[in-house]
Amino acid sequence: MSPSLLEDDIASQTSSMIQLSITNQQPLTLTTTSHKRNRPSSSQSTAINSTEQPSCCYIQFNTPLQSKPTDILNKLATALNNASIPQDSISPTLSSWAFPSTKVTDEKVSFITILDPSLATRIVIIIRMTFDSSLPTITDALPHYPTTSDVDTSSEPSCNCRIKTCPFYYGGMNIFSDNPQGLLNAQNHGLHLHHDTLISLPDDLLKNIGWTRCCPPCTHIYLSSNNLSHHRSECNTYSTHITTNSPTSDPTTSSQWAPLFAMCPDSHKSDLVDAISPLPQTQILLHFLLSSTDGAWNRNSQRKTPATTTTHHEP
Ligand SMILES: [Zn+2]
Ligand SMILES: [Zn+2]
Repeated sequence: MSPSLLEDDIASQTSSMIQLSITNQQPLTLTTTSHKRNRPSSSQSTAINSTEQPSCCYIQFNTPLQSKPTDILNKLATALNNASIPQDSISPTLSSWAFPSTKVTDEKVSFITILDPSLATRIVIIIRMTFDSSLPTITDALPHYPTTSDVDTSSEPSCNCRIKTCPFYYGGMNIFSDNPQGLLNAQNHGLHLHHDTLISLPDDLLKNIGWTRCCPPCTHIYLSSNNLSHHRSECNTYSTHITTNSPTSDPTTSSQWAPLFAMCPDSHKSDLVDAISPLPQTQILLHFLLSSTDGAWNRNSQRKTPATTTTHHEP
């Protein structure tokens, strides 16, 4: 293939690849037709079907379990660039699968998609030189991407992966050690191989299989309660969420209700506490009243009962 033809091919692939996102497990969404090449009419007419190559193939290679897909892809992109291999020869997407060993718990198998199979052998060599002990090999399929229907939510949490299609499901039997290190291994396995699938589960199902989400707006999940507590202590999303949504929070010490308590007569403060319900509709109504009647109520309360600020504590 001449360099100019190759460049045309690369350009024709760019628009389809632009829609892809980088994830540690999301499978490639390309179909064989989406990266089919639009050859110049002169070459189309002379194309020989008997020698046609597959439109893409895949390379699997080992990487550290906790390595980030973006870091792997960036490192690979640099190596390809140094070897003058076009960046567009691979899809900017990485899929990951469990390393099939109970003795090697800190590795995973990563898969990239080669959009120009004629470069696959060269890219294997580059991966071998770039990633230590990565054992790259060409393969013809990506691993199965687990969906929520692949999650076993039927039984009590046990020391195994809950994705039924994962080798670490192990037929539902224990495979991780029933001790703190085993818990950590199971957590790292889930976080770095199945995060997107797990996070798509409703909170109650997630809880059924032993995982806890930090809070609805946060995507961090944990098997270890210690790790969860540590994360929550540093998570701004969590602190904002509980301040505004926790039904058990004390409204008299919440900054959002401070103006309301400041202008409320002492004799009605207990009624106000009762009125502040965790129901969003009630809170929206109170916010509306606060903004629309602020002046009148404030003036009245100041006239009858001096407003107190002692109940206002900034978090
Ligand atoms: Zn698994
Ligand atoms: Zn969080």
